[in-house]
Amino acid sequence: MKITKLTTWRVPPRWMFLKIETDEGIVGWGEPVIEGRARTVEAAVHELSGYLIGQDPRNINDLWQMMYRAGFYRGGPILMSAIAGIDQALWDIKGKALGVPVYELLGGLVREKMKTYSWVGGDRPADVIADIRRLREAGFDTFKLNGTEELGLLDSAAKVDDAVGRIAEIRAAFGNEIEFGIDFHGRVSAPMARVLLRALEPYRPLFVEEPVLPEQAEHYPLLAAQTAIPLAAGERMYSRYDFKRVFAAGGIAIIQPDLSHAGGISECFRIAAMAEAHDVALAPHCPLGPVALAACLQVDFVSHNAVLQEQSMGIHYNKDAELLDYVKNRDDFRIEDGFIRPLPKPGLGVEVDEERVIAASAAHAQDWRNPVWRHADGSVAEW
Ligand SMILES: [Mg+2]
Repeated sequence: MKITKLTTWRVPPRWMFLKIETDEGIVGWGEPVIEGRARTVEAAVHELSGYLIGQDPRNINDLWQMMYRAGFYRGGPILMSAIAGIDQALWDIKGKALGVPVYELLGGLVREKMKTYSWVGGDRPADVIADIRRLREAGFDTFKLNGTEELGLLDSAAKVDDAVGRIAEIRAAFGNEIEFGIDFHGRVSAPMARVLLRALEPYRPLFVEEPVLPEQAEHYPLLAAQTAIPLAAGERMYSRYDFKRVFAAGGIAIIQPDLSHAGGISECFRIAAMAEAHDVALAPHCPLGPVALAACLQVDFVSHNAVLQEQSMGIHYNKDAELLDYVKNRDDFRIEDGFIRPLPKPGLGVEVDEERVIAASAAHAQDWRNPVWRHADGSVAEW
């Protein structure tokens, strides 16, 4: 079998689909993207295609190493996202060629169903109680919300009280019937993280995500020593080489690699195993589309330390399209009481609605960008 063609489509809300074709008629799908830089990743995918055309797509390990090493420069969000989507498509082809789901190729299931959680609130975390109530009725009991809006390097007691007050309201409204993670989103400086973690601790969040930016990772063990709240991070780490430094330094209880950013199924499977050796849990990042989610689930279902799966149904980013809009086998993605079953179809388990992808790509070519936030003094704030 030989790879003959790579085609990409940028689609709403902010995703990109990749189709890899072969001379035997089997096609594989991937989702290579970095949110807000889709065109840059798209260019990288097509630059990498020179390593792929004419090659046997079943040699995933060799092709992965070639894409990673052969260009001399490696790593980072753009190159590793391009590799990630290509890797997903190669696994899709291999599974379809052999007639089995990817999790069978990775050794088989370690669990019957995977726990998912749902986002509540938007960029600015107001009015989450109503959202939680609505999603409770749909069966979810685990949620995630943004912890703060813009926060200065040193900020006020009023801002801290506002952030903590919202969390207190959630616990008061639902008691221990629900669990929730709080995403600091890299908006919080190390000094303020110390303040906020201490103030949030009585409300026992399931975890605090990106308590500080990944480039401030040396603070993770210091913050972890100060708080009993499990700390999570990883959506802005792109390879096992990024993660190994975090494992070595300690402090992170839950890693959140993104299957569309961190080298795909191949690399995240390896990262998950490294995490298991450090007693660190896995909760893959996935505010993306159905191919990315399917890739996450392949790793979740073979990783003993996978505890939670993010998924983007109803997420505030999904303007103009929803997770299942581009999927034909929607029933396979049904979430019951917060759990999703292994996708039964061969390969990744997604039947992509290609006509819909092409139409959506042609009709909505605009690029998604995150907002640029500024502090009260006019300086740029972390979003
Ligand atoms: Mg996050």
